[in-house]
Amino acid sequence: MFEKILVANRGEIAVRIIRTCKELNIRTVAVYSEPDANSMHVQLADEAICIGKAASSESYLRIDRIISAAEIADVDAIHPGYGFLSENAHFADVCESCNIRFIGPSSRAMTALEDKAVSRALAKKAGVPLPPGSEGTVDNEQEALTVAKRIGYPIMIKAVAGGGGRGMRVAHNDISLVKGYHTARNEAEKAFGNSGVYIEKYIENPHHIEFQILGDNKGNIIHLGERDCSIQRRNQKLVEETPSPLIDNKFKDLRKKMGKAAVRIAEVAHYTNAGTVEFIVDDNGNFYFLEVNKRIQVEHPITEEVTGIDLVKQQIMIAMGEPLKISQSDVQFKGHAIECRINAEDPFDDFRPSPGRIEMYYSPGGRGVRVDSHAYAGYTISPHYDSMIGKLITYGKDRREAMDKMSRALSEYMITGIKTTISFEHAVLQDPNFRRGVYSTNFVEQLLTGARRELIEEKA
Ligand code: ADP
Ligand code: ADP
Ligand code: MG
Repeated sequence: MFEKILVANRGEIAVRIIRTCKELNIRTVAVYSEPDANSMHVQLADEAICIGKAASSESYLRIDRIISAAEIADVDAIHPGYGFLSENAHFADVCESCNIRFIGPSSRAMTALEDKAVSRALAKKAGVPLPPGSEGTVDNEQEALTVAKRIGYPIMIKAVAGGGGRGMRVAHNDISLVKGYHTARNEAEKAFGNSGVYIEKYIENPHHIEFQILGDNKGNIIHLGERDCSIQRRNQKLVEETPSPLIDNKFKDLRKKMGKAAVRIAEVAHYTNAGTVEFIVDDNGNFYFLEVNKRIQVEHPITEEVTGIDLVKQQIMIAMGEPLKISQSDVQFKGHAIECRINAEDPFDDFRPSPGRIEMYYSPGGRGVRVDSHAYAGYTISPHYDSMIGKLITYGKDRREAMDKMSRALSEYMITGIKTTISFEHAVLQDPNFRRGVYSTNFVEQLLTGARRELIEEKA
């Protein structure tokens, strides 16, 4: 058993990892940047080491400082959380060469899925359908125009190193393609230090459905069902749920087919540890591979709620070299779970980030309610990192009960001093189409357009 783990992250996910470590009697080491000195993950860990200034490039992304901290604290393993260094194959290699276990996929698997273009090629090899698109990266305007002509508009230009919904542009004609090509490249260079882009057919009325994967070091791979993450704004997820209402209501046979495809991709990549295979599904039930997230995911708790499996515990056991103790047929799904991401953003001002000090903080509770958060009264949401305050997760025996609990819990959540997305999440939960489970990734834009129209009509 590992005796001590360093958590190379911050915020709610660092707290989440520390919680499971405590349950497993594993000691924890937090690392933190200067402004995070009073953070919850620092307070909850057994030890804490400051690794630098506010900018991530000076702290949470500094491999040298994190490894030094791990050596000083003499840890057995490092959990990278999500974002930051979690999908960095070089970091995983450095950990292993320093005799520190990296709690994530092997660097072989990470390299096999290094970026989105490479992953597309791998999915093709696995025989999984892909949106029509370019073979590899598109390196100039002319090539972009040729690919667009072959696959037809609308198309999406996407950063090969992209993440968090950044570095992608939709184009409907040659003019917007040329413009989008250059903006996507620039954005990708700035955000990911890699200007490589590729082109993919834009799937209309898309549904984002992903499968949770677990693989051990003995080659066993299982999936833990799907998550529907179609409630997105600007390609960023806001609400996630499992099971998917699209699959339940319209395409029951998709669950098995997509689950198999996800496992197949993981097998071809020799995937180990926890991961997520993301797909786009169109209105006719065709599904297409998007990407593999090679880490624990923000929305992992809803899977935990319906399967009863602690994913962080599984990650730790796998990293220790334990074989999976669950087979595919052992995985049982029960009930329904929904997650709302609560962000420090102003939904009435185009979701502008609203960092600052939280004055009052009261989080909901009661049966079927889970809050994964690092926030507390007096805590300051820093402008240096992402704006998530926490995740509210509800569980019910069916979708109806999970939704009713979510509405109730949202109405209890009280955060003052900063603006939050709670009122917006409320509007989603009350929307008749959401209640019926009929929505695509266009949902949020349609909801906001409707709200804007109502405001204008009210004024007039
Ligand atoms: P999830 O599917 O887990 O919600 P997201 O794409 O929303 O994944 O990203 C989760 C977190 O990881 C966010 O904080 C996001 O900013 C960060 N992230 C994801 N991909 C990258 C990347 N390639 N580079 C930097 N940060 C990333
Ligand atoms: P990221 O790494 O930023 O998560 P993804 O490739 O997973 O990038 O795409 C993020 C989101 O963008 C998807 O969940 C989906 O809503 C949208 N998207 C991506 N590719 C397509 C596509 N080909 N057609 C329609 N929507 C897409
Ligand atoms: Mg994605």
